[in-house]
Parts: sequence; structure tokens; C-alpha cells
Amino acid sequence: MKPTAKETANHKKSEKESLTIRGKIFLGFLLVIVVALVLLFLCQVVLFDLIYSNTRINEIRATARHVLLYADDPSFYSELASATAKNSLCATVLNGDGSVAYEAESTHTCLIHSFSSIERQDLAEAAAESGENLFCISYDPVTESYDAKAVTTYAPISSNAVLIEEFTHNGETMTLLLDGAISPVGTVTKTSASLLIVLGGLLILIAVLLATYISKAIARPIAQISKQAKQLSEGRYERVEGGTREVEELNDALDGACRELNKVESIRRELIANISHDLRTPLTLIGGYAEMMRDLPSEVTAENLQTIVDETTRLTSLVNDMLDISRLESGVITPRMQPFSLTDSVEKTVLRYQELTRTNGYRFSFEYTEKVTVTADEELILQVLTNLLNNAMTYTGEDQSIAVRQLLSDGEVRIEITDTGEGIEPDKLSRIWERYYKVDAAHKRAAKGTGLGLSIVRSVIDLHKGRYGVRSTPGAGSTFWFALKRGPSL
Ligand code: ADP
Repeated sequence: MKPTAKETANHKKSEKESLTIRGKIFLGFLLVIVVALVLLFLCQVVLFDLIYSNTRINEIRATARHVLLYADDPSFYSELASATAKNSLCATVLNGDGSVAYEAESTHTCLIHSFSSIERQDLAEAAAESGENLFCISYDPVTESYDAKAVTTYAPISSNAVLIEEFTHNGETMTLLLDGAISPVGTVTKTSASLLIVLGGLLILIAVLLATYISKAIARPIAQISKQAKQLSEGRYERVEGGTREVEELNDALDGACRELNKVESIRRELIANISHDLRTPLTLIGGYAEMMRDLPSEVTAENLQTIVDETTRLTSLVNDMLDISRLESGVITPRMQPFSLTDSVEKTVLRYQELTRTNGYRFSFEYTEKVTVTADEELILQVLTNLLNNAMTYTGEDQSIAVRQLLSDGEVRIEITDTGEGIEPDKLSRIWERYYKVDAAHKRAAKGTGLGLSIVRSVIDLHKGRYGVRSTPGAGSTFWFALKRGPSL
């Protein structure tokens, strides 16, 4: 069906609106990078200062806790010296009277060493009065004075932090002042901010290159496949090399679809050729005989009329077979599965055949040990049986005998139909189940058939998930059989 003008316009519009794979991958990459950069920036600007100053303050507190463990120990001063050196801190220890007992200066950024002894004492007193022990000290170069504020919150600080702790050493109350610089944070932030800009630029460049490469690698085979798929309706498909596993799977699927299409096309051609041949022959005969009898009244004989009747019967059975096989193969038929006595059905059919063909000299026999049931579509199973019985009658030998047997094994019931005819060559055996296949199409007996009987047998038994087969010895007859899952005995 051709698309309407509106459909085509809509299609073109949606083609424009929908992004290509390449565009989507590129946008995805860009989005990830932008989000990563924004997050990095936020961490840098908003959180870095806070985290840095808190880490530093914790370091100062931990150092104080550590050295004060040795407060009454002779190794106190050496511990203080090594701990301050390790953490880039300065320390001053004041005696009870405010005089300096010890000083450790391991960094040039410390402020308490530039304090006068009065200022240090003031600070120690302020600490004692306020109950706070951590102060943020800043120096104002204009007034040349120091400003000390107690650090109570976790706000970032950008100067020096001084921790003041009273302790007793050798029975004397002393004060420890620990000073750590926090001011370099601003510089660090600035440096990493500019680093961030450079990094961001680099990341975007890498993303552009990567997105272009990946999108090309993914999009190219898909674009090629879509080009190839447009030729599918003509039954042509060339595999696209390279690509991911999904592309390979798509390749396989389209390859399979192409093979199926070609198969269907060849079946269609074969079908038309067969139908036109098989339908034309009887129709030509019927037409010819009818015309002859119209023009020559002397030709209106019982024999000629019988030919017309025979050809009409053949035509009817051909059309019926064609309808059956196409309905079976297209899955239109859903079998009506019901339990029934297979033994009884087979027995009745064989008896009917015996009655109908008695005058023609056919002999039918049916052997069984016990009556069994199956759950199947009785009508379809009887069609299988009649197709096999008809073939057996057509191809059986001069004694005109046909033996039907019921065998039971492994939860299966098997019906075998044996004739005494010419049999079938081993190399032809596997082909007889194909549609329209006739072992010897020129053979007088085969010419009577439609070539569809056995393919109907195959389709029906497949539909019942049963088994079927044939044993044949050239010159010694054939045994066709089908087997179904067995139900309970009656
Ligand atoms: P047809 O309508 O021609 O019998 P079938 O599909 O039933 O079509 O059978 C296909 C071919 O298998 C037949 O043409 C015939 O050559 C061969 N065949 C079927 N049944 C027998 C048999 N009992 N003995 C020998 N050949 C057989």
C-alpha cells in the first residue's frame, strides 16, 4: 500500500525532528561533562574552603590532644616539637606567671610568635573567661593590631587558628597555645579554579572527539544496515561488516528475513506453476469433452461422461487439498483437541474402506491388542489416515492388500499402514513429504494424485506434536506410520 501524501509529510517532519544517533551520543556526552563540571565547581567554590578549614582545625585539636597526653611526662617538650613539626604548627607554652616556658616554631606563617607577651597573656585570659579554646586570629597591617574571635561555628576561616589549652606540668598550671595557618586556602581555591577551567576545556575537547568517534562507530553500520534493509522487499540483503554485537544480531535478523522472503517467493512461484498446471489439465479435459459432446451428439457416451465426472472429482480433491494445506501451514486451523478412541476410529474407517472397495478387490486388515484413546482433533487425524490409506490403495501391489496395525510403546500409540507395492527409492524417501513432490510424476498412478497428501499428513502430525515416518524397500512395499501421545486404555 502506498503511503498517502500526509503520511509522507509526517514522516519527513518526524525525520527532521528526531535526532541522529550521532547527535544523541554527542549531546549525552556534553550533558555528562557539563554536569560533572558544575559539580566540581560547586565543590571547589562552596565546599572546599569549609572542608579545608575544618580539616585543619581538627588537625590542630588532634595535635593538642596528643601532646597533652604527655603533659606530665619528661618527654612532653620533645613530643610537642615533633608533633608541631609534623603538622606545620607553632606552639608556645606559657608558665603560670605568663612567661614563656617553651617555644616551637616550625612555620613562618604563624602569628603568636609576633605577639607580645602581654598579648599572649590577654589571649589566654580571654580563653579562660569565655570558656572557648579556639580563636581565629587576623592581623590588620594598617592599625598594626591583632584581632581574635572565638571560633564557634563551622564557617570557613581564612587566617590563623589558635588553640589554647591549660594543663599541669610538674605540678604547675601552664597554658599551651597551638597556632596553625589556614590562610593559604584562598590561594589554593583560586589555583584550582583556574585549573578547573583548563580541565573543563580539555574535557569538552576530549568529549567532542570521543563522541564523534563513538557515534561514527555506532552510527555508520546502522546507517548501512538501514540502506540495505530498503532493498529487502526485492529479496536482496548484503551483510554489513564490522560493528557491535547488536549490529551483528540485526544483521542476522535481516539476513534471516531476507532468506525467508526468498523462500516464500519461490514457494509462491512453485505454487502458481503447480496450480496452473494441475488445475488447467482437468479443466481442459472437461471443457474439451463437453464441447465434443455438444457438437457431436454421437459422442454423448457413458464413458465420456465418466471422464468428465472423474476429472471433476480430481479437481475437487485438488482444490480441497490446496485449501487444507494452505490453512494448515498458515496456522489458520486451531485443532479441536478432544480425547477419543483412536482404535475405534481407525477400525471404523478401515471397515468403511473395506465396504466401499469390496467390488474392486481390495483387502484391508486391522490388528490391535487393546483399545486406546488419544487427545487430538479427530477429524484431522482421520484425514491423515485416509490420505495414507488412499496412497496405499494407489500404490499397493497386485494382491491389492493393505494391512493396518496399531502398536503401543513408551506412552505412544502408533498406526502403521503397509502396502505391497513397488516401494520408494531410498534417495527419494526424504522428499516425499514435500508439497507437490511426486516420485515419478510421469507414472500413471502418480499422475492421479495431487502431490499434497503427505504434506497434509506432515502438517497435521506436526500440529499435534506427534511423529511420522516411512519404511520402504524398493520392490517390497512401503509402511507409512504416525504416532501420537497415548491416552488411557478403554
Ligand atoms: P500424491 O497425491 O501424489 O499421492 P502424496 O503427497 O500423497 O501425493 O505422495 C507423494 C509421493 O510419494 C507420491 O507421488 C508417490 O510417488 C509417493 N508415495 C506416497 N505413498 C506411497 C506408497 N504407499 N507407495 C509408494 N509411493 C508412495
